Amino acid sequence: MRVEVDLTRCTGHGICESIAEDVFEVRNDGTVTIHGDERPEADRDRMRQAVTQCPAAALRLTE
Ligand code: SF4
Repeated sequence: MRVEVDLTRCTGHGICESIAEDVFEVRNDGTVTIHGDERPEADRDRMRQAVTQCPAAALRLTE
């Protein structure tokens, strides 16, 4: 599974980072960087949580 961000939607508030700080990093310029967008199956619940809680609907999961 892969987690992707739409940077045209991301507002940089970092909810995703608070859920998985090893994966999402909000840079000083207010954009999020994903470290390792290809995620293991064991990470599915955490990634779903990030997708669901992103206030800008900027994250999505693809298989
Ligand atoms: S939670 Fe959504 S809007 Fe906030 S930094 Fe993460 S991707 Fe961007």
